[in-house]
Parts: sequence; structure tokens; C-alpha cells
Amino acid sequence: MNNSIPRKKTRQISLGTLKIGWGSRVAVQSMCNTDTRDAAATLSQIRRLEEAGCEIVRLAVPDAEAAKAIGNIRKGTAVPLVADIHFDHRLALEAVKQGVDGLRINPGNIGGKDKVAEVVRACRDRRLPIRIGVNAGSLEKHLLEKYGHPTPEAIVESAFGHIRILEDLDYREIKVSLKASDVLTTVEAYRLFSKQSDYPLHIGISEAGTIHSGTIKSSVGLGILLSEGIGDTMRVSLTADPVEEVRVAYAILRSLKIRQRGVDLISCPTCGRTEINIIGLAEEVERRLGHITEPLTVAVMGCVVNGPGEAREADIGIAGGKGVGMLFKHGEIVKRFDEKELADVLVREVEEMIKSKK
Ligand code: SF4
Repeated sequence: MNNSIPRKKTRQISLGTLKIGWGSRVAVQSMCNTDTRDAAATLSQIRRLEEAGCEIVRLAVPDAEAAKAIGNIRKGTAVPLVADIHFDHRLALEAVKQGVDGLRINPGNIGGKDKVAEVVRACRDRRLPIRIGVNAGSLEKHLLEKYGHPTPEAIVESAFGHIRILEDLDYREIKVSLKASDVLTTVEAYRLFSKQSDYPLHIGISEAGTIHSGTIKSSVGLGILLSEGIGDTMRVSLTADPVEEVRVAYAILRSLKIRQRGVDLISCPTCGRTEINIIGLAEEVERRLGHITEPLTVAVMGCVVNGPGEAREADIGIAGGKGVGMLFKHGEIVKRFDEKELADVLVREVEEMIKSKK
């Protein structure tokens, strides 16, 4: 089944060579957790992120040294770079000078309208987008007083406050995010906003947690939003190697058939019929096929009774027997192998299948 989720119409902006908004793919973003001042370490992480499919990389810019280091990072990568800046507009000006493709700032907290105007002047020629990133944890005092706590309405009102500052300067290269660590608050905030505005949206659940809990929260929250056609770029925030964020983002997009990059692994939950180590095999196969970028469905099933049938949609797979496994392609058994060989056989067959498709 192909994805038929209608995407909400948002206006299109450009981030470097990447188009963002309606008519473009939902783009996957992550954020380096290296020290931005260490350009070599940051570039090496950017390369790993790019290999995993990351299309936008955000960099924290806490001081002038970090802003200056962007120049060297810029020279080493073509991936669209976004500088994440709080409170100090001079860092934004320096980041623009050093070649970033976009900024993440909140115009209301970088020190007054004249300073925002300076930043906008620097962005205007290259039409650099500015992402307004509202976070429930740092809402303006007057909104907390008005709403009592960070409600979806308060988050949305905060976003429009920041947007107004840019619109008053006649600047509309804007992307918006409305993040909270609470899934339902986040979802409602995005829904409310998207009813009222067509600015493109960057979606994410803030401070989602570790690989396990963060993946679950992000999958639920981003899954709901994407299934409603909301979201032009996305980030899965995890307390982990950022490469994991990219992997999870693609798994979410794949499960909704929005994007098909990489192997979709189907594996059975195992049951009393299982006579080989399916859990170990599935984990090994997933790890060893992590580098594949072509869309392919691979199954690892516990038995021949139900295995190939249950995984009929798979391009290729293994169904276990007693100390053996059958290789099957498109639901039909092809050949039997000893359990010890199964991981190697499956990985080799997948790689050959991909080569023959090219
Ligand atoms: Fe059990 Fe076979 Fe289904 Fe796996 S594929 S859960 S082993 S019946």
C-alpha cells in the first residue's frame, strides 16, 4: 500500500539546496552533540549523520568561538547547516557570515527589535530561513501568568508573538517548531497552529528521553502528526548518539509509508514453535543491514509453518526450522541453510539483490 496521507499545504522555503514545505519530502534533521568549536570532531559527526540519511544538521552556537568555527565546518560539508542561537544576536550575525543556511532563534529573546532587524538584514539577501523554536520549558512569563502553565494555546500564542516580530520587518522565510516534552501538549499545539498558519513546521518531541523511551514518545507524537499531514521537517530527540535519531526518524517515516529509505525489517515475536535463535538473528541482521539505503523489506521468521506466509510482503527472508533456516523470496522457499550460516546468507543475498536492482 502506498502512502495516501494528504500533506497539509505549507509555504515553501529553502534551506541551502533543500526545499522545505508542501511539495517537498519530509526532511530528517538532527543536531550535533560535539563541541561546535571543535570543527574536526563536529565534521566527523556530520559525516556519520549524513551516511545515516540526515538532511539538516543543527549546531549549538553558545559563544563567538563556536560561531567562528562554523566557517571551517562549512568548508567540509554541503549538508544544510542551522545555527542554534539564544539571547545574543551577534552570534547570529557571525554564524550568517560564516555560511550557515539557516538560524534557529527566537526573535523575542535576542535583545530587542533593533537587534532582530540587524539579523533579518543579514539573512534577507540569501533568504536564509529563521526557525522560531518555541519550547514549553521556556515560555514567556506573561503567557505562563495568562494560561497558568504551558498549555498548547500558550505555546501557539508565543509562536505568533515571535512571528509578528519578523513579519513587522517584512520577513517571511520562517519555519516554526512548538515543542514540549509532553506528547499530547505537543500534538495539540501543532494542530492548533497548523489550523491558523501555513508556515512550514519542524516537528519533534522535546527532551523525549533515552533510545527506548524517547523512541516510543517520538513515534507516538510524530506518528500522530505525520498521519494528519502535519510536519515538513522532523527531529527525533534522544539522549543518545544523534545517528540513532536519524535511524528512528526514518523508521517512523517508513512505517507510515511517507519515505522508504533503508531496510524495513519484519521479524516475528517468536513462540513455542521457534527452534533457532531468532532474537539474535534478527538483531544481527538489522545491525549488518544498517548501511543499506535502498528500500527493501527483509523478514526474519521463526518457522516455516507461518513464516513465509506471514511475511509474504517481504522481498527476502529467513524462516527457521530445527537447527536450520529456509531462505525465501517473495513468500516462496528457495533453499535450506544451517542455522550458523543464516546471518551471512541473508546479508549476502540482500546485498546481491540490491546490486542486481541497480
Ligand atoms: Fe511462531 Fe512461526 Fe509466527 Fe514466529 S512465524 S511467531 S515461530 S508461528
